[in-house]
Amino acid sequence: MAFTHVCLWTLIAFALTWTVFYVTNRKKKATELADAAAEERRDGAADVIIVGAGVGGSALAYALAKDGRRVHVIERDMREPERMMGEFMQPGGRLMLSKLGLEDCLNEIDAQKATGMAVYKDGKEAVASFPVDNNNFPYDPSARSFHNGRFVQRLRQKASSLPSVRLEEGTVKSLIEEKGVIKGVIYKNKAGEETRALAPLTVVCDGCYSNLRRSLNDNNAEVLSYQVGYISKNCRLDDPENLHLIMSKPSSIMLYQISSTDVRCGFELFPDNFPSIAKGEMATFAKNTLAPQVPPKLRKIFLKGLDEGAHIKAVPAKRMTATLSNKKGVIVLGDAFNMRHPSVAAGMMVLLSDILILRRLLQPLSNLGDANKVSEVIKSFYSIRKPMSATVNTLGNAFSQVLIASTDEAKEAMRQGCYDYLCSGGFRTSGMMALLGGMNPRPISLIYHLCAITLHSIGHLLSPFPSPLRIWHSLRLFGLATKMLVPHLKAEGVSQMLFPANAAAYRKSYMAASVF
Ligand SMILES: Cc1cc2nc3c(=O)[nH]c(=O)nc-3n(C[C@H](O)[C@H](O)[C@H](O)COP(=O)(O)OP(=O)(O)OC[C@H]3O[C@@H](n4cnc5c(N)ncnc54)[C@H](O)[C@@H]3O)c2cc1C
Repeated sequence: MAFTHVCLWTLIAFALTWTVFYVTNRKKKATELADAAAEERRDGAADVIIVGAGVGGSALAYALAKDGRRVHVIERDMREPERMMGEFMQPGGRLMLSKLGLEDCLNEIDAQKATGMAVYKDGKEAVASFPVDNNNFPYDPSARSFHNGRFVQRLRQKASSLPSVRLEEGTVKSLIEEKGVIKGVIYKNKAGEETRALAPLTVVCDGCYSNLRRSLNDNNAEVLSYQVGYISKNCRLDDPENLHLIMSKPSSIMLYQISSTDVRCGFELFPDNFPSIAKGEMATFAKNTLAPQVPPKLRKIFLKGLDEGAHIKAVPAKRMTATLSNKKGVIVLGDAFNMRHPSVAAGMMVLLSDILILRRLLQPLSNLGDANKVSEVIKSFYSIRKPMSATVNTLGNAFSQVLIASTDEAKEAMRQGCYDYLCSGGFRTSGMMALLGGMNPRPISLIYHLCAITLHSIGHLLSPFPSPLRIWHSLRLFGLATKMLVPHLKAEGVSQMLFPANAAAYRKSYMAASVF
């Protein structure tokens, strides 16, 4: 009897132990499977990882998701950015935005219409408008100015409204690389945990302060100058539909309406002459040196922000030529890829144009897992974007140099020539405004107008009759213009810029509306 009891209890104990072991093991396995599945979902489900949800990252996420891709966007700060950049969208940029289906992101942000530019120099003023009769431009020929942060938030909302976009707050620390192929990213999520995300394609779109660019491209950004600015609140320009450009000394001043009540006031300064913002020297400099050069009808608004202690910001204006990364499975876009002087307010336009080209090139690839095919696409993208991006970049870099005041007679003649040409009316004004507005970003048009400005300036310098000194200054002016243009054209790659196949491929990217 006792023996039977012992056997029975042993059996029960064995059965219980086995059951507990079995259940625990199954649970463990289930947890492991669930973890693996979660890991798979977290790391493997996306077709594309985008680093940064600024203008570029958000617009690209929307475009790719519309094409059926699953997109994981990682953005380090989801709050509305407060930045002094990307506040003016050229008509060409608006066209790109509409082609991406994102034009409504300019609604409900109190964006202001701009039909051109009022230019002031030495007491004279003239209005240069975007051409309204440009048959090649199938869109409303006006720009929009706005608070950049509001626009970015609208783009983020629009992208994340698509079910295949996962917009996550997190900071990308590094790229995961295996044998020259980028497999994904390591990032710190909102909870502060370090985690990984894997996808066949990673797009680095982390802006002008990019940390990731360095591991992909050997291109370095060059700081050209600093854009200094502040907002004058609760005021309205007399002529709010024009951006106001004052060709002052040492460099230009800009005022434009960025909401129905806010006016952006900005100017350019160089590192060798940079008053301290913290010590109040910058405000004093703006009041004492710049304000007297601002036309009286704008001066009150220029001074308003300064008198009310508006927050003065300084942002570096950088130039960086685009270069291709030799790593596979990755694309760099936006300010992390290519920058030009912001004087032509065209960074967003080039970026949106890049997104359109890239999207179109990626469309035929049903899956992005073939790193070699994706690499071919990236190479084509790099060539096709050249005619447009190189035109805008060269224009921006050359225009910014012309705007700098100088005591050199030849340089000053160039500056005067630029003002006269831009404000002369007729085809010169409309040609230049079509270039500046991204309505006709063709290299040939750029070269034509830049040569015409140079000849116009030389003509001005030689008049009323060509004395030996005037001829000498004219020759120097010609030398200066060449020096101004050639390095930019060389950096951009003249042959790629002018290569007819690239121009044809660029036009094809916009075939739907047969633009440019
Ligand atoms: C002074 C100035 C004025 C300008 N004015 C104009 C203008 O009027 N019109 C115009 O068209 N262009 C203008 N530009 C250029 C334009 O602002 C840029 O081309 C455009 O904003 C670039 O967009 P982006 O998406 O590349 O970068 P951004 O819009 O800067 O976005 C980058 C995003 O990446 C995020 N990020 C960064 N690092 C990480 C990380 N490690 N992990 C996760 N997220 C990260 C950032 O938080 C940010 O949201 C101006 C530029 C300057 C310097």
